[in-house]
Amino acid sequence: MTPWQPVLLSNVNRPNSERITTYMAHGGYEALRKALNMAPAAVIAEVKASGLRGRGGAGFPTGVKWGFIAQDAPVKYLAVNTDEGEPGTFKDRLIVERDPHSILEGVIISAYAVGAHRAFVYIRGEFFLGVKRWIKAIADAYQHGFLGKDILGSGFDLDVSVHRGAGAYICGEETAMIESLEGKRGEPRLKPPYPAQIGMWDQPTIVQNVETLANIRHIIGRGAAWYASIGTEQSKGPKIFCVSGHVNRPGNYELPLGTPLREIIYEHAGGVRMGRRIKAIIPGGVSTPILPPDKLDVPMAFETLAAAGSALGTGAIVVMDETTDMVEAIRRITSFFVHESCGICVPCRIGGVRLLETLETIGAGKGTLADLERLDYLSRSISGLTFCPMGTGMCEPIASGINLFRSEFDARVAA
Ligand code: SF4
Repeated sequence: MTPWQPVLLSNVNRPNSERITTYMAHGGYEALRKALNMAPAAVIAEVKASGLRGRGGAGFPTGVKWGFIAQDAPVKYLAVNTDEGEPGTFKDRLIVERDPHSILEGVIISAYAVGAHRAFVYIRGEFFLGVKRWIKAIADAYQHGFLGKDILGSGFDLDVSVHRGAGAYICGEETAMIESLEGKRGEPRLKPPYPAQIGMWDQPTIVQNVETLANIRHIIGRGAAWYASIGTEQSKGPKIFCVSGHVNRPGNYELPLGTPLREIIYEHAGGVRMGRRIKAIIPGGVSTPILPPDKLDVPMAFETLAAAGSALGTGAIVVMDETTDMVEAIRRITSFFVHESCGICVPCRIGGVRLLETLETIGAGKGTLADLERLDYLSRSISGLTFCPMGTGMCEPIASGINLFRSEFDARVAA
């Protein structure tokens, strides 16, 4: 079989890949020219037909989301999510730092499609280089006539600005991000209404993740049929998998959706360090359920991972070898979520702390069977019962970890 030729990461290893001149020398902004000659509804139809699903974690169909926005609303916004806070995820940062124009072209096409004349880039505060790259890319795009008034003589206007967050995990959740963009404390809003109905300053707002937007120019440029020919039945297109943990070559690997987990780990990421066996894999960022090694042949796609008992999430694969202390690994993941709880709902704010305390007690060898039962009780009292999905995400590694590695937990507690 012909090796996969990167699409989303095709530009990142070129010298000066972040510059607009490099981008344009390799076909950059040609898809925008094409899109501006299409009716906005036709652009939406093309993205719908491609089957693109959001790459930020939820996997909602992008074209369908765009179709929800009221076309006759006088003011609409586009918000670009560059928060990328899920541990194990580092794909968006790579695109922003090395190929910002590929996202920006997607931003302009998307804004044109939904009729937004104002776009806001929200970026995690610690991404210093990413902030610089976004600002420079936007300034150069204005100079070349890709932003501002009457873009490329089309009559379409768009302004884009960059806003830095302060590094809160919850601001990766779209409504918390909108609150933060509005200058408020980053806390989620109740859904529905969804941002496409009522978003920033109560106006319809489309929120898209960076990797999702990087797909748009390819869908418009090469066509929905080409795009939909990649991947599986319900998971179309290329995907950047972030591989970390006990592998020989951690990094970002772009492959078609549906590539087996085993191939990503052993062929692309160089296998497990020192030839050790795999003990556990987190397939989609640390808020997704842990998988055992007998699931290594699962295709990395939305539907297949759900059937295997986990989720594609952000596509961040964390590999743990046979030496891993699973109680400690789960304690560390839980401590992250407890630290990041925004605090507005009790099950997450208080329940998270109780979960962490119990895991610490068990990890220190001071727990009892009652503590294991408490973990189960607390997880069931939090999962699905919180204001936003973070509470459920916090419990996924705990519930799946105890289920898969019960003997390790049992060995740490007194009867
Ligand atoms: Fe905040 Fe509740 Fe979401 Fe936790 S689950 S982050 S406390 S809204």
